[in-house]
Amino acid sequence: MLRLPPFRFLQPSTAREAALLLAEHGSAAMAVAGGTDLYPNLKRRQFEPKVLVSLRELAGTRGIAANGSLRLGAMTTLTEVERHADVRRRWPALARAAGLVSSPPLRNAGTIGGNLCVDTRCTYYNQTEFWRASIGYCMKKDGTICLVAPGSDKCWALSSSDTAPVMIALGAEATLVGPDGERRLPVAELYGRDGIAYLAKRPDEILTEIHVPDRAGWETTYRKLRRRGSIDFPILGVAAAVRRDAGGVVEDARIVLGAVHTHPVEAVDAQAFLVGKRLDPETIDRAAGIAYKPARPLDNADLSYAWRKRMARIEVARALRELAGLPTGDLPPVVA
Ligand SMILES: Cc1cc2nc3c(=O)[nH]c(=O)nc-3n(C[C@H](O)[C@H](O)[C@H](O)COP(=O)(O)OP(=O)(O)OC[C@H]3O[C@@H](n4cnc5c(N)ncnc54)[C@H](O)[C@@H]3O)c2cc1C
Ligand code: SF4
Repeated sequence: MLRLPPFRFLQPSTAREAALLLAEHGSAAMAVAGGTDLYPNLKRRQFEPKVLVSLRELAGTRGIAANGSLRLGAMTTLTEVERHADVRRRWPALARAAGLVSSPPLRNAGTIGGNLCVDTRCTYYNQTEFWRASIGYCMKKDGTICLVAPGSDKCWALSSSDTAPVMIALGAEATLVGPDGERRLPVAELYGRDGIAYLAKRPDEILTEIHVPDRAGWETTYRKLRRRGSIDFPILGVAAAVRRDAGGVVEDARIVLGAVHTHPVEAVDAQAFLVGKRLDPETIDRAAGIAYKPARPLDNADLSYAWRKRMARIEVARALRELAGLPTGDLPPVVA
């Protein structure tokens, strides 16, 4: 049985206190929310913090308020997001993405903030310490080279959050509280460009709130590809959102791919292509052919990377067909 390593467990009551504790202990400390990702990672010694700063009791970081826009406390659980009546009705892609994370017990403990900050993943990294030692480790922890791309000076571990692509497609923003104050930035800017430094925020900053704009007039969806219908992380996520005028012409579009790179990838060329067009089958096929090009899957996740790349094109087309009210194809529905 894998055991947790010893650590000190601190329970501050405000986000600023938590940020000050993280600053004080530096690289020896990590924040923990629901712990559904972090605790298994500690058991595999992917991280070895001496101090854990719990975010569970932070004042004002839990709950959902939907007045025009949506405000989510970062400590709100994924189950609460998935089941909230206003979220389901007005931001259905977000409810769907939250409801597709892992399994019910982990969604009851896992938080929306933790989901946006979840570690990147790779076949050579998400293994026990014993397994990783047997192959000489890799750059992300304890080693010096990337085993997927040995000539690379960066890590290509995959961004694997289900809700991050949706938040970006919806234009959400995040509030971060650090030792010196608070700032608000687009969720898209939360992510770095390396599988190790995958978050662009400072390590002592706490994500406290997520703000999602009113998306009345938009049609949105999220589709997830994985081997099993539950538990598995995405090997591809597609968030899509379009706003059409009364005649069905696309006025604005967002397509964001998950699990294809170290960060969520916005398919900007496909978005631009869709504007001014109707969502007919030919336009959708051409948009999907543009959208999948920035996907860079490597041989470091489940199933073959060439197949995952091909599926990016197919799943973008299915997402757009869903928004257009067209049949999506012969796969079983993504939502039970
Ligand atoms: C078997 C299994 C299957 C899973 N499947 C999926 C899946 O399908 N899709 C998916 O997206 N995830 C999946 N996960 C990962 C995880 O359960 C979810 O991402 C969950 O939402 C993480 O939230 P948490 O509160 O438990 O985060 P934690 O585990 O507590 O933290 C995760 C990381 O985020 C940081 N962090 C957490 N909250 C904050 C905050 N407010 N501010 C700053 N930093 C913070 C922590 O320091 C840590 O680095 C799976 C995990 C397991 C074990
Ligand atoms: S992409 Fe390379 S460096 Fe990153 S976790 Fe995988 S093997 Fe390690």
